[in-house]
Amino acid sequence: MTADYEFGIVGTGFGGLIAALKLQALGKNSFVMFERASEIGGTWRDNVYPGCACDVQSNLYSIESQPNPAWSHTFSTQPEIWQYMKNVIAKNHLAPHIRLNTTVTAAHFLEKEAVWLLRDHHGRETRVRMLLLAMGLLNRPNTPHFAGMERFRGEIVHSAEWRTDIDLRGKRVAVIGTGASAIQIVPAVAPVVKQLSVFQRTPAWIVPRFDKAVSAFRKNLFRRFPALQRFVRKRIFWANELSGYTFVHDTRLRLIPELFAQWHLKRHIKDPALRRAFTPAYELGCKRVLVSDDFYPTFNLPHVRLETAPIQEFTENGLRCEGGTEQIFDVIVLATGFIAADIDWGIEITGLQGRNLMDEWKHNGAEAYLGTTVSGFPNLALVLGPNTGGGHNSVLDTMESQMGYVAEYIRLLETQVPTAFLDLRADVQSAYNQRLQTMFHGTVWSSGCKSWYHNAQGKNTTIYPQLNKHFRNAVRVLHPADYTIRVLSSTT
Ligand code: NAP
Repeated sequence: MTADYEFGIVGTGFGGLIAALKLQALGKNSFVMFERASEIGGTWRDNVYPGCACDVQSNLYSIESQPNPAWSHTFSTQPEIWQYMKNVIAKNHLAPHIRLNTTVTAAHFLEKEAVWLLRDHHGRETRVRMLLLAMGLLNRPNTPHFAGMERFRGEIVHSAEWRTDIDLRGKRVAVIGTGASAIQIVPAVAPVVKQLSVFQRTPAWIVPRFDKAVSAFRKNLFRRFPALQRFVRKRIFWANELSGYTFVHDTRLRLIPELFAQWHLKRHIKDPALRRAFTPAYELGCKRVLVSDDFYPTFNLPHVRLETAPIQEFTENGLRCEGGTEQIFDVIVLATGFIAADIDWGIEITGLQGRNLMDEWKHNGAEAYLGTTVSGFPNLALVLGPNTGGGHNSVLDTMESQMGYVAEYIRLLETQVPTAFLDLRADVQSAYNQRLQTMFHGTVWSSGCKSWYHNAQGKNTTIYPQLNKHFRNAVRVLHPADYTIRVLSSTT
């Protein structure tokens, strides 16, 4: 049986859009995109908490072929980024390819037909020759269970599942967590709430963002001279690479960003005890570096407090910390992040000999080759798969680089008969992952801290332990010898 489409893409976040645009650029228009929600957007659709914005500059955090001269700020907010994604879809006529409200529940590689059979939650089946999974890593909220949680009578809301019906005006609010989401929520809600308590478990390194509105003059310049915006994009990329240097090399230069962050803290927090409470005890970069101009100043407001004692339990009316008394809250915000490193996309994905990808990842830790292809799972590409993240630059750059590799893969596939499939050699994947794990030695990510970069076994399955330019180089060329070309059940 032939395929319904040449390509299937799961996900319509930035990964899905970048994949679709690359297919179009290759002249491939036979593709279908699956989206479980009623609107496109991935993480930029889901994260609608107050203050949600990108901590990478918009001139870089955008698709290279889709410049936007109209970004309103250096760092754009969620509504603007989401609108940008919708504009990209409209401009490139992607909507007819997208099936909204469609959750892919299973993807089986049918060896005898060399197609992927996709099943969705409506029971519908779709066959595609090649499958691209673009589901991202930050979409499973981490919802810790605190003792007595169920008896709390107020509202509990996770930052990634924000409810627009919750009105925080005049309320007593607790925010649990001080990660990238919390540091945006806290300054955004502080002006309207009656009382705000922020529960910090581990202080984070925070550097200033220096965000500002983009002038009409500058927008005009970008509109009239696109090369100027491309230059700015490159400048930001290389400046970020420079800052990433201290992450990937064991160097005393790491002290420079730490001193910068300490200066930022001292500038805004005058109380020595509060300053101490905000001072991290791990090396900058080991956890995601946070970027904010307004988080620290918020703690100078009289109704905002930092709590550092561990939370003991939730009560009917609030919560209690170890050694403390009950604190009363109307709303408790869990800004407690995501389960990212134990990747589970919630799809039954089976490859050759019925191998189950999610089961294998669960038992052995997530692994791929260049975060993009997986041995035993032919004609499959991952957009932002295991070990593709970085702590210092734009993940959109990583995804665009990956799609260059996928284009090579498609070219190789196309030189074969239509029933052929490409299977990554197991030894190539295993050697790559051994090398990758040794590359962590001496980087900041092995300097000793606990973060969402590590899975339950303590293995880092999310970070690519080099600069983006190295990743770009690594995926620049596909070596055909890394793959076994198979035709139906015979091997060449
Ligand atoms: P996060 O960085 O993992 O932060 C979670 C916070 O919750 C941490 O402070 C953590 O403390 C705390 N926490 C977790 N479980 C807890 C518990 N049981 N008790 C007390 N505290 C607990 O999550 P996030 O802030 O949602 O950010 C996740 C990632 O999303 C970021 O690193 C970033 O990559 C991305 N993000 C990006 C943007 C952007 O601007 N582009 C914005 C938001 C998020 P510990 O540190 O002690 O674990």
